[in-house]
Amino acid sequence: MTAQTGNSASAIDKVTLDAPIFDPAAFRLTDEQAGIITRARQLGQAVFAARAAAYDRDATFPVENYADLHRAGLLGVSVPKQHGGLGADYQTYALAAAEIGRYCGATALTWNMHVCSTLWSGPLADDLDMDAATRAEHERRRAIHYKRITETGAIYSQPFSEGGAAAAGGVAFGTEARPVKGGWIVNGKKIFASLSGHADYYGVLCTEIAEGEKATRRNTLYLAIPAKTEGVSVVGDWDPLGMRGTVSRTLLFKDVFVEDDAALMPRGVYFQAALRWPHMFLTLSPTYMGLAQAAYDFTVRYLRGEVPGTPPVKRRMYPTKQIAVAQMQIKLEQIKAIWFQAVTEARANPSKEQVLRAYAAQYSVMEGANELAALAIRTCGGQAMLKSLPLERIYRDSRCGSLMLPWTAELCLDRIGREALYESGETDD
Ligand SMILES: Cc1cc2nc3c(=O)[nH]c(=O)nc-3n(C[C@H](O)[C@H](O)[C@H](O)COP(=O)(O)OP(=O)(O)OC[C@H]3O[C@@H](n4cnc5c(N)ncnc54)[C@H](O)[C@@H]3O)c2cc1C
Repeated sequence: MTAQTGNSASAIDKVTLDAPIFDPAAFRLTDEQAGIITRARQLGQAVFAARAAAYDRDATFPVENYADLHRAGLLGVSVPKQHGGLGADYQTYALAAAEIGRYCGATALTWNMHVCSTLWSGPLADDLDMDAATRAEHERRRAIHYKRITETGAIYSQPFSEGGAAAAGGVAFGTEARPVKGGWIVNGKKIFASLSGHADYYGVLCTEIAEGEKATRRNTLYLAIPAKTEGVSVVGDWDPLGMRGTVSRTLLFKDVFVEDDAALMPRGVYFQAALRWPHMFLTLSPTYMGLAQAAYDFTVRYLRGEVPGTPPVKRRMYPTKQIAVAQMQIKLEQIKAIWFQAVTEARANPSKEQVLRAYAAQYSVMEGANELAALAIRTCGGQAMLKSLPLERIYRDSRCGSLMLPWTAELCLDRIGREALYESGETDD
């Protein structure tokens, strides 16, 4: 079944908007930030929410949502203003993405892969060291990518994962880029590549290896490979538990020629970013912040008898329901507080405390969103988990958050434990 396209502008006019997850006055956001975040919330609530069930049921990519994101200028949300984008910084993007995730998890998660192509090559790269010539070359190249996005609505994805330790940050990526005249020849395989078959450019993390060299993480390249290039193929099925609209199939690269200008970051800069800008890996969490809010919102509405499509039966008068909602509200506020702090302090060279807090925020959101969804199902009851309502999708989508490398829930625990107890370079020998 195809999703309803509808007229997004008139849909937005007709809807009474939900309150923002983070009230601009309470969280001290500027008018400009609030404007971008409202734009995302309007589109999410008025347009994406109604389409989400069909993308989920059919495990199809939200093509129509991407056309709307482009029309609303949100494909270029973090493209610097001088390149035609909205110039959203890390925090503004994260808050906007949470609003999209509240209404359609798969759209928010894939939008994250796309936006990171611009956030990492944009404001994040601006914080990193490059000599003047390298920076000038980077500026010239990123202008090419940004123009495609803002003018023609090009969609970028971010396939890291290969099924081994590389996406966890343990070893060099197995996908290899051999330097040749004018670019590279890329060979390799990426699993769980969200937007596969739908992105125009795959932002592939790979290892540059010249003849006779050994693979090292220092030589990681970040290349935007045009999806239609000879040697690129999408294989495998896609029928997962949740986040079904992400269409995260397997990508194969067989002797794919990629030109120099495909580089989204200059040589060595991705490695530097991973060391010096660790919050770059927290960007998968906004989607799940939105899902956590969605589980809570649904519960309150359901118990008040206000969920559209259900009989107006009130259940709010039972003390057991009230206690459950209180527990959910406390959990939600805890998640919001740590997450807001972490996305607000994201920057180059964070302190040890800030890094530990980022891991803790990721863990809290990724595990907490699903805990809230589980509580919501228990509290609302059997009739609330029917497929005709969004709660069971929120539950399944939220289950996927803690699996996302490199900051899976277990790897966050690993890192917090080790880094809290050992200073850099310390051993027990
Ligand atoms: C809906 C969805 C969308 C996704 N989209 C993308 C995407 O767009 N791009 C992308 O790159 N990936 C994406 N992923 C993949 C995701 O980030 C993970 O790479 C994937 O879920 C890992 O699969 P796994 O849990 O089976 O890996 P595992 O087999 O558990 O882990 C892979 C490897 O990581 C290392 N590892 C795992 N756990 C530990 C540990 N505790 N300690 C040390 N090393 C460890 C090991 O070397 C292991 O072999 C997506 C996943 C999902 C579910």
